[in-house]
Amino acid sequence: MALQTIQMQVIILLGPPGAGKGSQALRIREKLGIAHISTGELLRNHIGAESALGRRAKEYIEMGQLVPDSLIFDMLFTRIAEPDCQQGYLLDGFPRNLAQAQELQERLKGHPAVAINLRLDDSTIVERITKRLICKGCQTPHHLIYSPPKTAGKCDKCGQALYQRSDDTREVVEARLKVYREETAPLSVYYRELGAFHEIDGARSQREVFQDIMDYVEDKQNRFSSGSAKIAKVPQGSSVSS
Ligand code: AMP
Repeated sequence: MALQTIQMQVIILLGPPGAGKGSQALRIREKLGIAHISTGELLRNHIGAESALGRRAKEYIEMGQLVPDSLIFDMLFTRIAEPDCQQGYLLDGFPRNLAQAQELQERLKGHPAVAINLRLDDSTIVERITKRLICKGCQTPHHLIYSPPKTAGKCDKCGQALYQRSDDTREVVEARLKVYREETAPLSVYYRELGAFHEIDGARSQREVFQDIMDYVEDKQNRFSSGSAKIAKVPQGSSVSS
C-alpha cells in the first residue's frame, strides 16, 4: 500500500534532545501530510502568548525539567482532537515519561502506535544543541557549523528570523539529558514490548535517517493492513476517525 493512502497513522518520535526529532518531523510531515505535534513548540507558543499555561511552564522549561503531566495532557489531547489530526499525527517530544506513554496508550485504546527512537551520544548532543538556531516561522533547525544559514540570522527555507532557544545552553542541556536518561529513555523498553519500536542511529545523515524511518513505517503499515491490527486507534473523546 502506498504511504499516501494510509488512513490513520500515529507516529511517535523518541530520542534525546538534539537527536534530530524536529528535523525528521518536518520531513515526515511533508511526505505523509499528517499533523506534526511538538509539545515543546506548543509550550513555547503558550509562553510567547503569555497564557496562564505558558507562565507555569516557563520555569520548568528554563530549568530543563519536565512540565507536569496535568498541564501537558490537556494541551496535547485538545490539539489531537483538531480536524487536521484526523488522518493521523506525528508526536515529537511526547511521551516523555511512563505516565504519559500509558495515558496515550489508553487513548489509543490499546492499539500500538509506531515508536521510532533516534539514538545519539551526549557529546554530539551538546555540540548540536548549543550551536542550534531555530526558525521563528517554520521551526526549521539550522546549525552554526553543520548547516549554517546562507544569510546570517535568516531561515534558508522561509527567510524568517532564526533564534537560539533559551533552554539550548550547555547548563540546561545537561539537565535535560539527565531527565531524558531517567524518565524518557526507559520508554524504549515500553514500546519494544508493545511490538512497534524501531531504533535508528541519529548520527547518520538526515537523509539516511529519514529513509530508514519511511522504510520502517511503510513496512509496519503493510503488515498491519494485511493482518487484523492497525497501527493506531482513535483516541477516546477526539474527533479522529480511523
Ligand atoms: P522540546 O522542544 O521537545 O525539546 O521541549 C522543550 C521543553 O519543553 C522540555 O525540556 C520540557 O521542559 C518541556 N516539554 C516538552 N514536551 C514535554 C512533555 N511531553 N512533558 C513534559 N515537558 C515537556
